[in-house]
Amino acid sequence: MSYLFPTYARWDVTIKEAKGSWVTDENDKKYLDFISGIAVCNLGHANENVTAAVADQLTKYWHMSNLFHQPIQEEVAKLLVDSTEGDAVFFCNSGAEANEAAIKLARKHTGKTKIVTFLQSFHGRTFATMSATGQEKIQQGFGPLLETFQYLPYNDSNSLDELKDDVAAIMLEVVQGEGGVVPAQQEFLQKVTETCKRIGALLIIDEVQTGIGRTGKPFGYQHYEISPDIITSAKGLGSGLPVGAMIGKQSLIDTFGAGSHGSTFGGNPIAMAAAKATLTQIFEENFLKEVEEKSNYLLGKLNTVIGAHALVKEIRGKGLLLGIECKEQVGDIINQLREKQLLVLPAGPNVVRLLPPLTVSYDEIDLAIETIAGVFSTIEQSVGAQ
Ligand SMILES: *Cc1c(COP(=O)(O)O)cnc(C)c1O
Repeated sequence: MSYLFPTYARWDVTIKEAKGSWVTDENDKKYLDFISGIAVCNLGHANENVTAAVADQLTKYWHMSNLFHQPIQEEVAKLLVDSTEGDAVFFCNSGAEANEAAIKLARKHTGKTKIVTFLQSFHGRTFATMSATGQEKIQQGFGPLLETFQYLPYNDSNSLDELKDDVAAIMLEVVQGEGGVVPAQQEFLQKVTETCKRIGALLIIDEVQTGIGRTGKPFGYQHYEISPDIITSAKGLGSGLPVGAMIGKQSLIDTFGAGSHGSTFGGNPIAMAAAKATLTQIFEENFLKEVEEKSNYLLGKLNTVIGAHALVKEIRGKGLLLGIECKEQVGDIINQLREKQLLVLPAGPNVVRLLPPLTVSYDEIDLAIETIAGVFSTIEQSVGAQ
């Protein structure tokens, strides 16, 4: 008997503790965690610096209304501004809320209502962000949706030609995460940038999954030559404490004046303490260089060892957000990997998504590859034997 709404298809696993790349269930079975709380625990579980920063803030104060100055918000905002094109930050509590803020800001700033997003995108579960999400399965049963969203095919530059100057913003992920680990092509993003200029629309990059070092840069858009007007962040920002952020350019600052937007918990000092410790560690040049090296190593192994399997259609992704597209549905593959003590996620029906902590070791990468290769071989043999 559960007292919870059954909104999640939960696995039959209960975790009792987690440290670094490893989690332990109630039967003392250990798992190598290549989910990281869905790109949240980027420093691994229970990172010591973050733990100490949160513990310290707990002894000072837990919550103060945003009617008061909170210097720790300024410190986190500066870390975000110094690592992006942005100039000011609005803090909230989740990815959906960060995207809500971006959508509201784009409408108010441009005086226009239409927002263009892409098929297979994911932007959240609130009314505006669900409407922004280009996947019917997320919207089923909740209509009517906000009518001012238009969905175009992702990575299809030509379709942008049809857009007119009634568009407030174009919003996208530079790697579609939930939609199947699909990276944007450089030419496509170039065309998006040109289109924004042509029609007077803002460029919003949803970095909720791709940000905070996940792709080997502070934010994923930094792999491309683009300059977003608005960047949204959440997931990895607080290492597991709930926090979101919207980062905007100078020209937008006055649009969100006093009283125009807000959040009771936004910028909560405990979440800010976690964010400050997280960003201080991840935005360090050497740390990000290591992420890139680990990514190259993992991608190399995936291409040579896993790519050789008959089950596999394509390996793709950026940094430590990687996908193995299979020729069949991956639900059973993911369950078998979990049996063999490797935790991974699906992304759409056919893609196994790997999100190891950015602190993963080379030995742990080798172990994961060995486990995946073993499970793929078993499945291929059983298919061959039929
Ligand atoms: C997870 C996710 C969201 C939603 O974040 P929540 O914190 O669950 O509201 C939005 N956009 C992207 C790209 C995401 O991956």
